[in-house]
Amino acid sequence: MKNFIFALPIVSLLAGCSAAKTEEAAVKENNREYVIVVHGGAGVLSGLENDSVMTKRYYDALDSALHIGQEVMEATGDGPSVVRKVINYFEDCPLFNAGKGATVTSAGTFELDASIMEGKDLTAGAVAGVKHVKHPIDAAWAVKTQTPHVLLAGEGADVFAAEQGLETVDNMYFVTPKTMKWVEEFKALSKKNGTVGCVVLDKQGNLTAGTSTGGMLKKQWGRVGDSPVIGAGTYADNDGCAVSCTGHGEYFIRHAVAYNMNARMKWGHQTLDQAAHEILFGELSREAGNGGLIAVDRNGNFTMTFNTEGMFRGYLYKDKASGETTSDVGIGELLRSEK
Ligand code: ASP
Repeated sequence: MKNFIFALPIVSLLAGCSAAKTEEAAVKENNREYVIVVHGGAGVLSGLENDSVMTKRYYDALDSALHIGQEVMEATGDGPSVVRKVINYFEDCPLFNAGKGATVTSAGTFELDASIMEGKDLTAGAVAGVKHVKHPIDAAWAVKTQTPHVLLAGEGADVFAAEQGLETVDNMYFVTPKTMKWVEEFKALSKKNGTVGCVVLDKQGNLTAGTSTGGMLKKQWGRVGDSPVIGAGTYADNDGCAVSCTGHGEYFIRHAVAYNMNARMKWGHQTLDQAAHEILFGELSREAGNGGLIAVDRNGNFTMTFNTEGMFRGYLYKDKASGETTSDVGIGELLRSEK
């Protein structure tokens, strides 16, 4: 089985010349009843696109995530419910670096990060370095809804999640055959990709963003990436956009990428596409910071932009007038429908 890996030294060399791909709706007011956009990590493809069995598995997983989102949206119309259920699905799917299938620390353990934010009132919740919560995104939601805080970390976050009645597991629950070899050796030089994220414009016209990850392979235990940091890996503002990022977290924190997107749009009046390009190919690529992001605005415009060779991604939206839904998924430069 071929791994979708992110070899950091190689990626650094590739940063200036790797394929760029952005898909954004052409019009500003596009009459969409709702929009759901997902990502499953960005990085080097390592031949994945020539592996038809694995490609199909990823396409199927991305399709499933979008259709779960659609079902929840049709039933509830509620963005946070969609984001949580979509991310729960990814957290249960061993193909992605979130929940089961998460990457390992240099200590051979699993430390998971997640966050969620609502654009209608800027409320947010996040957990960092949790080891026992089966679905970290639900713990992030509990922090948002059940505490006056935004971010809980480490043991306190695990204890809090258990007290909230969330399902807890032994740390080795998160292992898969693929990550087992890293747990045993933890000397691999590559990073497993597959952080997951979901951004939504819901039926009420509200924006929500969520992100969940195991972090970067061989991260020092205790290291926290961008994913649980509001403004770095996740942000949502109804007057701007909802954003979920993936990639080398240290760069995303330093460039406050998720908030940066929102600010460029809200005050700089850039389109999502322009903002994503300037951040990923300007600010980040200059420093060999690699990754990608998904974002959606209140008018139903969205972007899925990356400065790496590929990004697992997909979108689904419903047209208000016709009631038709349109959906597509992609891994490398081209979306499935463009091949
Ligand atoms: N951004 C995540 C982190 O740095 C990793 C990833 O997206 O692959 O923890």
